[in-house]
Amino acid sequence: MSARHEAGTPTIHHVVVLGAGYAGLSAAVQLAARVGRRQDVRVTLVNGQERFTERLRLHMAATRQELAELSIPELLDGTGAQLVCGWVTAVDADARTVRVDDDRVLHYDTLVYGLGGVPDTAAVPGVEDHAYVLSSAQDVEALAVRLARLGRGTVVVAGSGLTGVESAAEIAERYPELDILLLGRQEPGAAMNTKARSYLQGALDRLGVQVRSGVEIAQVLPGAVELAGGERVSADVVLWTSGTRTSPLAAAAGLTVDERGRVVTDTALRSVSHPDVYAVGDAASVRQGYGVMHGTCQGGMPTGVHAAVSIVRVLNGKQPKPFRFGYYHTPVSLGRNDAVVQFTRPDDSPRRAHLTGSLAARYKETVTASPWPTFRRMKKMPASAAFWPRGGRFTRVRAQR
Ligand SMILES: Cc1cc2nc3c(=O)[nH]c(=O)nc-3n(C[C@H](O)[C@H](O)[C@H](O)COP(=O)(O)OP(=O)(O)OC[C@H]3O[C@@H](n4cnc5c(N)ncnc54)[C@H](O)[C@@H]3O)c2cc1C
Repeated sequence: MSARHEAGTPTIHHVVVLGAGYAGLSAAVQLAARVGRRQDVRVTLVNGQERFTERLRLHMAATRQELAELSIPELLDGTGAQLVCGWVTAVDADARTVRVDDDRVLHYDTLVYGLGGVPDTAAVPGVEDHAYVLSSAQDVEALAVRLARLGRGTVVVAGSGLTGVESAAEIAERYPELDILLLGRQEPGAAMNTKARSYLQGALDRLGVQVRSGVEIAQVLPGAVELAGGERVSADVVLWTSGTRTSPLAAAAGLTVDERGRVVTDTALRSVSHPDVYAVGDAASVRQGYGVMHGTCQGGMPTGVHAAVSIVRVLNGKQPKPFRFGYYHTPVSLGRNDAVVQFTRPDDSPRRAHLTGSLAARYKETVTASPWPTFRRMKKMPASAAFWPRGGRFTRVRAQR
């Protein structure tokens, strides 16, 4: 571990956290709470906005449901961590610098890389120009305005994964006069057990969502999507929810990344090429016994907490511990009053147990609302966020990297 020395001043170890999403905020708050009284550690968080983007609620924002104003500066108040509000435009992992808005350079001793992911608009021609996405508050506002003004027409939700299902259900419930068509390769709820899946499909049916699975979208055109084989489906609005990609910044920084641009980590969540960089959340490629974790909030927050705890251990001259995480549920909203919660094994395969209906909707809302109170609690009791299922035999990595 290194730190910068300036004549006559104590050595300060500067930790810079990139991205104030679920994972980056977990790391920053956890770290600040643990190093609060130390004069030798400084924590800086860099994020594009001062307001926390609740990605779990973006489909609600798209249907004009008001979300809480969650202020990151307010959350950090009293922790000692500083927010730099700006856009990260480059990282130099060898020089250990971060460039913000092109003109500001931050030096770090340890970096936490948590820039998340964005919808993969490059996967299919035309998405970039003719489809809406659920990515930032600005994207969602544009979609919300369009939907509110549409009156009548067809909305194609492209991608039948869980984001597509939640979005289709939300739009159908809010705008029953619109025709909603959910298109995608897989059956909605494909990873759920038979009963949960059939409940989910029945709910989409009740909401009037038409589903076409087993289809491949070849391109998005103005006013239509074209399927592989040439069939054209008319669409007044296309919402693209299929696939995510990560920022090219990590690869450009010289960090080892996987095929999706995620930072490849060792068992302690450090970059395999640059151990002074920790990667967390959707931007990290984290291997567990069952395979590489996929991007979720349930797994992302623990990565942030673990990275922070590891950084403090290293600062104290100890070795970081391996990160282990097992999935436990897949909660899916179906509008505001209905949902399915599929309980899972640590490898994310479905168990028999599941919840449906209003009980599931309450469960889902509790889960969605929980990150902010968790961050607040962490400020005073950092250890309170250190509990998550470790996954037992499912998460043991046999071949250590
Ligand atoms: C509609 C929807 C519903 C979802 N529902 C669920 C669910 O029910 N359960 C679940 O577990 N997961 C769900 N997810 C997935 C979940 O939102 C992500 O896995 C989670 O947000 C990942 O957290 P993160 O901190 O890694 O990234 P993010 O939450 O994406 O945060 C990244 C942060 O970095 C900032 N940033 C990015 N690039 C830059 C840059 N260059 N400069 C400065 N700042 C930057 C972003 O603005 C953002 O604040 C859902 C996603 C969507 C879109």
